Amino acid sequence: MEPIIVIGSGLAGYSVIRELRKLDREVPVMLLSRDSGDYYSKPMLSNAFAQGKGAAALVQTSVVEMAKQLGITVRSHTEVHGIDVAAKRLTTTQGEPRYSRLVLAIGADPIRIPLQGDAADAVMSVNDIADYAHLREAMQGAKRIAIMGGGLIGCEFANDWAAAGFIVSVIDPGSYPLASLMPQQAGSQLRAPLAAIGVDWRFGTSVSRVDSAATGYTLTLADGSQLQADIVLSAIGLRPRIALAQTAGLAVNRGIKVDTHLRSSDPAIFALGDCAEIEGRVQPFVLPIMHAARALAKTLAGEDTAVVFPAMPVVVKTPTHPVAVLPVARDAVGVWQTLASGNGIKMAFLDAADRISGFVLTGEFAAERSEMTKRVGTPLAATGKADNIVAAESS
Ligand SMILES: Cc1cc2nc3c(=O)[nH]c(=O)nc-3n(C[C@H](O)[C@H](O)[C@H](O)COP(=O)(O)OP(=O)(O)OC[C@H]3O[C@@H](n4cnc5c(N)ncnc54)[C@H](O)[C@@H]3O)c2cc1C
Repeated sequence: MEPIIVIGSGLAGYSVIRELRKLDREVPVMLLSRDSGDYYSKPMLSNAFAQGKGAAALVQTSVVEMAKQLGITVRSHTEVHGIDVAAKRLTTTQGEPRYSRLVLAIGADPIRIPLQGDAADAVMSVNDIADYAHLREAMQGAKRIAIMGGGLIGCEFANDWAAAGFIVSVIDPGSYPLASLMPQQAGSQLRAPLAAIGVDWRFGTSVSRVDSAATGYTLTLADGSQLQADIVLSAIGLRPRIALAQTAGLAVNRGIKVDTHLRSSDPAIFALGDCAEIEGRVQPFVLPIMHAARALAKTLAGEDTAVVFPAMPVVVKTPTHPVAVLPVARDAVGVWQTLASGNGIKMAFLDAADRISGFVLTGEFAAERSEMTKRVGTPLAATGKADNIVAAESS
């Protein structure tokens, strides 16, 4: 019997195998990964510095131990180049294994924007543990760090490093932090607390050039201003890896298109995690991956199961001013309402039927995450809460 082959040893790949093994210890499983296959928690990359952790300390379980625990064959440092869907066979750097069913858990690539300047290639990004090791090396002796992008990852790194004493600049074309996740009133809450620990915000502009300087680099911004940095980190977003699927003839859009059963346009091939677009939505976060992995494991074990996503808030790891957000789709119809403010803000997104369908909690309100999650789907008025509606903001 050909094995189930999983490509990718990140959270998505390992989670689906772990869930499958709870249901079936026998079915042969092979994991292929172009990295080492060691297991680590990717979200820790953006708050590891404050915890004094280098790359090696972030590895939770070695690949050898993972293979033993899960009873699987692992081929690490093996890149998959092609999928022959008719023959159910892969082309890889280490042979041509055949599969019974195939799971694509191949993640996403950091988006790179073209930059001018003789040091444009020195711009770093951190999307896996090897990138993090590289970054930690570059940080030896560095003092000034410039971060391109004030989204979740940019803000988390900014908090981590500013708290450790680095001089951190964040450059973002928007007008406030976390703009893709929340409305201005909420995102702006992060601005002053992070500025107070030394973050130099540069909103409304972007980096045009990176040139070598006597020490470090000179960044020239689109507004003509310049700043100096020893490290330039790009954190402007991720793009699902679709090339492998596309070349094999699978349906792709922003991500690899799958239905609620995580099944691609080929019935023997599934996808989940940062590479997947589930019914039109790419959700590059831990909780959606865990839910998708559980459903897919059941399907692989013989019980065809659709994934059902509950409300899944995202915690932004900015301890200087904590943030929890249940994001809403860009095209969601409704209004953001401020329910309370003080040292932070509490906002809810109300849909056309006045039901809570998203929220943002910052600062002192971040601790109300579980309570707000329970209120999702209920009308604001029906919750019996004495929320003081301070202001309404249209979507
Ligand atoms: C710095 C950072 C902080 C984050 N913080 C949070 C957070 O606080 N909360 C949250 O919910 N989410 C967070 N996320 C997002 C979350 O970590 C990701 O959604 C998740 O880890 C993605 O897992 P994945 O398995 O889909 O992809 P990946 O972890 O990227 O794994 C992809 C795997 O595929 C392999 N691969 C790719 N192509 C091939 C190929 N052709 N052949 C063989 N192998 C291949 C790679 O080697 C890798 O093993 C964060 C992300 C980053 C980068």
